[in-house]
Amino acid sequence: MAPTREFAKGVPGAAPARRIPPFTDEHDDLRASIRRFVEAELAPHAERWEDERWFPNEVFAKLAAHGFLGLKYPREYGGEGGDHVHEAVLIEELSRCRSGGLAAGIGAHVNIGTPPIFKFGTEEQKRRFLVPGIRGERIAALAITEPEAGSDVASIRTHARRVDGGWVVNGSKTFITGGVRADVVVTAVKTTPAGGHHGLSFLLIERGMEGFSVSRRLEKLGWHASDTAELAFQDVFVGDENLLGEADRGFYLIMANFQWERIAMALGAVAAMERLVEGSVAYATERRAFGRPIGDFQAIRHKLAAMATKLETARALTYHALRLFHEGHDAIREVSMAKLLSQRAACEVADEAIQVHGGAGYMREYGVERAARDLRLGPVGGGTDEIMREIIGRQMGL
Ligand SMILES: Cc1cc2nc3c(=O)[nH]c(=O)nc-3n(C[C@H](O)[C@H](O)[C@H](O)COP(=O)(O)OP(=O)(O)OC[C@H]3O[C@@H](n4cnc5c(N)ncnc54)[C@H](O)[C@@H]3O)c2cc1C
Repeated sequence: MAPTREFAKGVPGAAPARRIPPFTDEHDDLRASIRRFVEAELAPHAERWEDERWFPNEVFAKLAAHGFLGLKYPREYGGEGGDHVHEAVLIEELSRCRSGGLAAGIGAHVNIGTPPIFKFGTEEQKRRFLVPGIRGERIAALAITEPEAGSDVASIRTHARRVDGGWVVNGSKTFITGGVRADVVVTAVKTTPAGGHHGLSFLLIERGMEGFSVSRRLEKLGWHASDTAELAFQDVFVGDENLLGEADRGFYLIMANFQWERIAMALGAVAAMERLVEGSVAYATERRAFGRPIGDFQAIRHKLAAMATKLETARALTYHALRLFHEGHDAIREVSMAKLLSQRAACEVADEAIQVHGGAGYMREYGVERAARDLRLGPVGGGTDEIMREIIGRQMGL
């Protein structure tokens, strides 16, 4: 296969020299149009949105106008009729927006907020939440984590009591990406307190419902352009029509959702590493010390070689997991491995990129320090490194 015009560009050693499956010719035009959009509509504003700790909702409307919020959804709901590989292109190209928070804020809606509505929602729920979600008019967030329960999902305490015609919800959620702006929050609740994993359900809790509020907006190490919320539920009545999937079967929804979330995180980390390697090679070529480019020093050249090797290792495993997932195989083991490997590798590559850049790496204008802060969330969010190892260990029969 000959190098394409897309991949022929870029700095040698960062972007792949040729297309790697599951990406095919078919994805080139989409990649080029997303790249143009990201470079024109997102990247120039990223710095300001980082400072403002917020990006405007009109970003969703603009993405929707190009069809980018519905790439993997059927046309009958306003989607583009594509699949997860098309969305993988979006995730990779968002790495060019210069803000992990902006990519995460968009990703929370596209990768974890709307998918459970599509997969588990009734036709009526899809009309009410998915269709306007794809149009960028109603933003979705996913709320599982609580102040007292993160990794240990089964021990969440937010409780939904059965009443005539629906449920009454009491409790709280924390660290919810997009939770400040969300119009609908796909919320994990306990419906059978004694049921452990089998007592969980999901409710679609809407902005404006009485008793539902954003109790705190959280400050963070990175992801500054994205909003992260603590949410409070005080006797919130949620009608039966907002139960997502079956009562007490919410754990299956969580597990199903995690697979795509983790592949999305792995793809994001691989693309971020590609940007860091690209930037570091360019810097090492231009920056001179002791009369020569720093890339001429073996120490720097070997560091860049090691960074590129980490990138390609993570890419190979991530694309492998993506291919298995896309073909409908059970890919829990490979998805967990890709998530584990890519997130830690991205932190290491970001740290090494700072070293290659010297003092400039610590300065804001090069974007390397932001990448290092943004990427640190990877080994924690979406299931920690320790939980990934637990899942992989269990898959090995241990
Ligand atoms: C910026 C940000 C955005 C987020 N966005 C969302 C969101 O949109 N929606 C949402 O629901 N959640 C979100 N989260 C929450 C995230 O998924 C959790 O932080 C993560 O799952 C870890 O849970 P925890 O913070 O409660 O840590 P804990 O579960 O308390 O873990 C603390 C430490 O103990 C370790 N540990 C826990 N259990 C075990 C075990 N069995 N074996 C070994 N070690 C263990 C962990 O690995 C970790 O190192 C977000 C978090 C952040 C920081």
